[in-house]
Amino acid sequence: MVGRYAPSPSGDLHFGNLRTAVLAWLFARHGGGAFRMRVEDIDEQRSSVESAHRQLEDLRTIGVDWDGGVLYQSTRDAAYREAVGRLDTYECYCSRRDIQEASRAPHAVPGLYPGTCRDLGEGERVVKRGELAAQKRYPALRLRAQVSAYEFDDRLRGHLSGEVDDFILVRGGREPGWAYNLAVVVDDAFQGVDQVVRGDDLLGSTARQAYLYHLLGLTTPEYVHVPLVLNDHGQRLAKRDGAVTLRQMLVDAPLTHVVAALAGSLGYRADNLSDLLADFDPGRVGTKPFVFTAVS
Ligand code: GLU
Repeated sequence: MVGRYAPSPSGDLHFGNLRTAVLAWLFARHGGGAFRMRVEDIDEQRSSVESAHRQLEDLRTIGVDWDGGVLYQSTRDAAYREAVGRLDTYECYCSRRDIQEASRAPHAVPGLYPGTCRDLGEGERVVKRGELAAQKRYPALRLRAQVSAYEFDDRLRGHLSGEVDDFILVRGGREPGWAYNLAVVVDDAFQGVDQVVRGDDLLGSTARQAYLYHLLGLTTPEYVHVPLVLNDHGQRLAKRDGAVTLRQMLVDAPLTHVVAALAGSLGYRADNLSDLLADFDPGRVGTKPFVFTAVS
């Protein structure tokens, strides 16, 4: 087994991020597997190297270790380009507003791309491309999907089917960029990852990713979507909830208390990760979110 953690470096890791990282590490190490680290910094506007360094330092501080170097998605252009070259794609000129409006049509499914640009002729494309270029914008590149749903297995949730649309592989707009669904599949395969443990907020993307594995001739990893951490209003924990990042928590509490709180959120008593690993039983991980109050 090869597991991984793949944070986006757009701020310090909070209790929820750390809990997911610890779970991914526990699942991998429990079976004696390897663990890889990847920085998902494809979104240049929201990522920073400083943030990546702080996140990696925080992970080391709580005792998460990994094998080999850290893979930065910002260095992976050639691999993404090669993968896109093997897929059936088309340019999409739609703005966010175009898609919202098209989604209100009687047969459209909200949240799914309605296929507006899928069957445009070359003449129409030349015109649309010109219009975008005049606004200094780039078209997006979408997958021409041959299915509308795809099945996959999740260790905690069983056999699932999720919607697949002509999802974006290359983001358009003012700055073109690789899309998450493309990069995550290409890189997990490249890093030899066969077990993806991550937050269940990403369940909605998984069918698309499983379909991409299939199209690229790759084996789908085992998926383990773990529940998120919520604040005491039942909303997904976020930095605005106050003292939730590791660095903030360490102002008032020793590291052993923070690690004990992480272990406690999983139903264990341990103040370091090796003791937690010794007790960890993957069969005990449920699907109920954990409500975070404070570390004392
Ligand atoms: N980079 C994503 C995040 O930080 C995680 C992606 C994944 O685990 O597949 O939410």
